Amino acid sequence: MNSASEALRVRFAPSPTGALHIGGARTALYNWLAARHSEGTLVLRIEDTDLERSTEENVEQIIEALDWLELDWDEGPVSQAGRAANHADALQRLLESGAAYRDPAKAEDVKAWKAEHGADRGYRGAPGSEGAIRLKVPDEGDTVVHDMIRGEVRFPNSSYDDFVIARGDGSVLYNFAVSVDDAEMGITEVIRGDDHLSNTPKQLLVLEALGHQPPRYAHVPLLHGPDGKKLSKRHGAASVQELRDAGYLPAAVRNYVALLGWGPGDDETLLSTEELVKRFDPSDVGRSSAVFDEQKLRWMNGRYMREMPLEEYARAVAAHNERELDPLLHSACEIAQEKAQTLNEVWPLIRFVFEPPIEDEKAWRKIMKGDAGKALEASREALEAVEEFDAGSVETAVGPIPEMLGLKPGKVYQPIRVAITGTTVSPGIFESIAVLGREKTLLRITDALERLAASVPEPD
Ligand code: GLU
Repeated sequence: MNSASEALRVRFAPSPTGALHIGGARTALYNWLAARHSEGTLVLRIEDTDLERSTEENVEQIIEALDWLELDWDEGPVSQAGRAANHADALQRLLESGAAYRDPAKAEDVKAWKAEHGADRGYRGAPGSEGAIRLKVPDEGDTVVHDMIRGEVRFPNSSYDDFVIARGDGSVLYNFAVSVDDAEMGITEVIRGDDHLSNTPKQLLVLEALGHQPPRYAHVPLLHGPDGKKLSKRHGAASVQELRDAGYLPAAVRNYVALLGWGPGDDETLLSTEELVKRFDPSDVGRSSAVFDEQKLRWMNGRYMREMPLEEYARAVAAHNERELDPLLHSACEIAQEKAQTLNEVWPLIRFVFEPPIEDEKAWRKIMKGDAGKALEASREALEAVEEFDAGSVETAVGPIPEMLGLKPGKVYQPIRVAITGTTVSPGIFESIAVLGREKTLLRITDALERLAASVPEPD
C-alpha cells in the first residue's frame, strides 16, 4: 500500500445505536493500528444522524468501550449531525452545478417508471422545483472500487438509481453525509466492515460529483462464530462491555481481535500492542471471513494473565473486583496467577482468604470421609508447630504427612482444602495455607474436625 512514511488520516465512524460489538471493536482497532503505524491521525466520528436511535447513552457506551480497549483518537468525537451546515453547503453546490436535482416524483411514479424500463435499469427522474434531491448517475460505465483487500470491484452505473441524497426538507441521507465528511475531514483510507461495500459506489459517485479525490478503501470481511454463522450473542460475549465483564484483559482482546482476519496466519500468536502497531497493514487483511472463537480468546487471555508482571496483575484483579489492593490481596493474587484464564476466575480461587469457607455440601461429602479426620488431626498438629508461617515451612511441616499416615497426597490435601476453602479447588495447598495464615487455618481445620465428629462417619 502506502510508503511507510505516509501519515494516514483514518476514521472510526460508529453509529451510536447500541453497544460496541466485537466486529466494531476490530474496525476501531484496525483504524487505530493504521493510524499509529503510520504516525497518522485517527478521527472519531459519531454517525448520529439517526436521531431516534442515536442516544447520548449509546455514545457514552462506545467511548467507554474504546477507553477500556485503550484505543485513543486524535480528533473528535465529531458529531455527524453537528456537521449539518457542511452537508447543506455541499448539497447546494450539487444543485447549482446540476449534478443533483429535485424530483417531484412520488413512490408510485418511481414504481411505474421501473415497471416500464425494467428492473435492472436504475431510475432516472425529471427535475422539478420540489421533492427529494437525487444525484445524477451516469448511464454508461462502471463505478470501480479499488479495494485494498478485495481488489477491483465493479458496479455498473446503469443499474443505479439516481439515488436520493437528501429529503424534500433538505436533510441529507447517510451515504451523502459520509462522503462529504470523509472528503472534508481529509480521510485517506476508509477501513470498515464489508457490509458497507455496497454503499461505496454511491459514496464514490457523490465524491466525484463534488470534485473530491476519493479515499482508499479496505473492506474487512465480517466475523463469524465457530459454527460459521454471523457473529451474534449466541456465540457468547458479543460486546466489548461483555468481554470486560467476563474478565478479559484489554491487551489480550486487542491481540486476539487483531488476528481475526489479519496477521501471521493463525489466531494464537502473542503479539504485544507495540508489535501489532509495527506490523499492521490493512492491505494484509485476508479476504475470507474470520472466526471469533471465545475459547481461543480465553486461552490467550490466560497466557497474558500468567505473563503479566505481578504488580500489574494484582492491580487488575483489585480493580475488577472493586477492592483496594492491600498486602493481603497482593499475596492472594500471587498464588493464583498461574491458575486463572480470566479475571473472573481469580476471585473464586482466593475468596477463602477474605471470607469464611463457602458451604459446598457436595465437596464436603466427597472429601470428608474415610481417613479425612486423621489427616486433618495430623495437619493441625504439624501446623501448630510451624514458626515462620510461610509456604516453605508449611510444606516442610505438612509435606511428610501423607507418607507418615500411608495415604495418597490427595487424601491429606483435599480435606485441608475443603476445611479452609469449602471447595475442592484452590491455588497450591501450601501457598493457600500460608496466605490464609496460622490462626484462620487452624480455626478452620478445628471447625471441620468438630463438624466431622458430630456427623455419622461415612465409609471411604
Ligand atoms: N456508521 C457506520 C457503522 O456504524 C460506519 C460507516 C463507515 O465506516 O463508513 O456501521
